Amino acid sequence: MENNDTRIPREIQWPIVLYYLYLHFSALFGLHIMITEAKWTTLFYTICLVHISVLSLTAGAHRLWAHACFKAHAILRVFLVLGQTLICQGSLYDWVLEHRLHHKYFGTEKDPFNANRGFLFAYLKNKMMTNHPDHEKLLKSVDVKDIEQDPIIVWQKRFYWLLNPLLMAVIVFIPTELWNESLICSILIVGFLRVTILLHCSWILNSASIIWGLDPLNKYSIQTNLVFIVNKSLWPQYHYLLPWDYQSGEFGNYNKGCYTAHIRVWAALRLITDLRTIDTDGIRKAMVDAASTGQDIKQCVEKYTLDPNLLKIKCELDLERIPY
Ligand SMILES: [Zn+2]
Repeated sequence: MENNDTRIPREIQWPIVLYYLYLHFSALFGLHIMITEAKWTTLFYTICLVHISVLSLTAGAHRLWAHACFKAHAILRVFLVLGQTLICQGSLYDWVLEHRLHHKYFGTEKDPFNANRGFLFAYLKNKMMTNHPDHEKLLKSVDVKDIEQDPIIVWQKRFYWLLNPLLMAVIVFIPTELWNESLICSILIVGFLRVTILLHCSWILNSASIIWGLDPLNKYSIQTNLVFIVNKSLWPQYHYLLPWDYQSGEFGNYNKGCYTAHIRVWAALRLITDLRTIDTDGIRKAMVDAASTGQDIKQCVEKYTLDPNLLKIKCELDLERIPY
């Protein structure tokens, strides 16, 4: 394990800072125009697009591809890939690669969003600074063979340069063509404002352990009033221990939330299968195994993962509850 105190100096990348400033000022103007000029239909349409993109990011990029929490039908994969393309943050392949690197070196200088450097670094500054000197080499060391075998991911990576502007043009012109929204409104709201909101949703994911996570051994953080404002819990830490559990929410929750509900509905529709999860009893047994044998807890837990076939025969909308 690398010494966390050894800080690697990183330079600010001013062109990126200027790009984010430009994006945020345009988004603020978009917000103003949305309140003062835009049609209600445009607002509703933008909310739907944001929802589809966040769903593609959380249930798709994060749980399906980065952590293989379940398997999905090709129709659903295409839908999620298109939703992720609308986020405008590069291909899904690159997102998964960076997220796996983040997990592999979590909390060290090799982690691109190193939480030990504080909230501002994990949330924002990492994007505006130069990477770790060995970043490219480290990315090559990440195992992504599974997603390289998914033709939909390979296709999106190859044609991202064409697919992204094409989809952006389509979603910007829909309001102007279908309900006579002005082009400037559409560009500023559906384009700039939406992309900026999604950027922050993605950044939250990289710093979730700081926003929602409790400090180690701190069951209930009474030192901070934050516990009353945001739902502080140990679930973000749990995600770094068992990233393949499909019930782990990105926003500090477990077994509930809009995106987990979507996954269960898709399971009910037979669009996804092989959901991976574990119950409290399994975790308890794995901990006993780890303590008595000295084995890594991650390996012990694999033994007690709930059988996906057992999950399949239960009521699909309540998949995590298994009869004892
Ligand atoms: Zn993750």
